[in-house]
Amino acid sequence: MNSLHTMETDRAWFESELLDRFLRYVRIYTTSDRHSTSRPSTQRQIALCDLLAEELTALGVRDISRYPNGVIIARLAARDSRRATEPQATAAGTCIGFMAHVDTAPDFTGENVNPQVVRDYNGGPIALGATGLSLSPDAYPMLERYHGDTVITTDGTTLLGADDKAGIAEIMTALAWLIAHPEVPHAPLEIIFTTDEEIGKGMDGFPAAESSCRYCYTVDGGDEASIEAECFTAVHATVRFTGYAIHPGQARGKMVNPITMASAFVGMLPQAESPEATDGRFGFYCPVELEANLNEATLYLLIRDFEMSEVERRTAALHAIARAVEAAFPGGTATVESEEQYRNMRDIIAEHPQVMDLLEEALAATGVAAEQHSIRGGTDGSRFTQMGVPTPNIFTGAQNMHSRFEWVGLRAMVRASKTVVNLAQLWAGR
Ligand SMILES: [Zn+2]
Repeated sequence: MNSLHTMETDRAWFESELLDRFLRYVRIYTTSDRHSTSRPSTQRQIALCDLLAEELTALGVRDISRYPNGVIIARLAARDSRRATEPQATAAGTCIGFMAHVDTAPDFTGENVNPQVVRDYNGGPIALGATGLSLSPDAYPMLERYHGDTVITTDGTTLLGADDKAGIAEIMTALAWLIAHPEVPHAPLEIIFTTDEEIGKGMDGFPAAESSCRYCYTVDGGDEASIEAECFTAVHATVRFTGYAIHPGQARGKMVNPITMASAFVGMLPQAESPEATDGRFGFYCPVELEANLNEATLYLLIRDFEMSEVERRTAALHAIARAVEAAFPGGTATVESEEQYRNMRDIIAEHPQVMDLLEEALAATGVAAEQHSIRGGTDGSRFTQMGVPTPNIFTGAQNMHSRFEWVGLRAMVRASKTVVNLAQLWAGR
């Protein structure tokens, strides 16, 4: 039997459930902190973890594990069509994970989020609270697609947190629907909520041995109908410069200034391969931080590309530039260290074509064709894939993430949630 959801299946229920959950989650302050050394980086993230654990329990989910870094893993046994009225004691079939993160980006404040719900959106500019700012389709043409629909925005003073609380609401709503419909068979499911994704630590200390999903989907993307099986390969490089410090009054012919060396190094990076000069499938170098004095300097850089060969080429270029700087500053040294942060998940996911095939089928049932994009960044799924669990990314509907202009269309949220419901069904018995 095929009971895949179209957009109209229980639509009003999905809309109100999603809106309720989303508005509840975004009001909780969960900004992460890249300078913190604790895990989670901010204790406030636990408030949302607590709420989600309570809500999962209220839904009837009994198997919920919580870990010191805030991670939640909740498990729902498979339901097959023969014994459709009660969950099986032992999970049969391939366990499928759905993952989202509770934190919001430290790039913009996420405290006292006061969302605005615009129903029957009239297609014009939307005033953001009393700030004098507005969200207009001239600047953000994607808004036009939601003319007549419900749009949720900020009041102009904070980010919205649709990244990734829309994803959390979509997963929770899908789960609530499945639990309320015991006649519908589904695969064994694992729901994973992580902390600190926005500071790149979502999978640090992840209790992999406790997770049994074979494949997983992050619900952490953007545009309605976009899905992603590809992300950057990411390298973090550190260049250390040493010079020769001496009183500037007696420095002629002697001083070797590490600040000047670091500046020369940055000057030799090709500007055409910078984030500000690239998009689409082009990668880049990006200097992100410089600590420097007359004795030493440390420069931190990111290298990003979809192709490993290009990442390797740029890493080799950093070493060549270091040699060139040393040659120009006799007596100074420049040393490069680099480490991989995450890797393009494309090749591993491609070995398991069913993961994307079923995702496309799940989405198509809701009435639109999937659009495959490449993430100019990484997700928790990039690292989960590297750990052996192929994990592509599903859209949430979130737009203008990490900013006060962040917004989301309710229709996109319904579609994402139904895609999760459909995937849970499509994986049943496989
Ligand atoms: Zn996110």
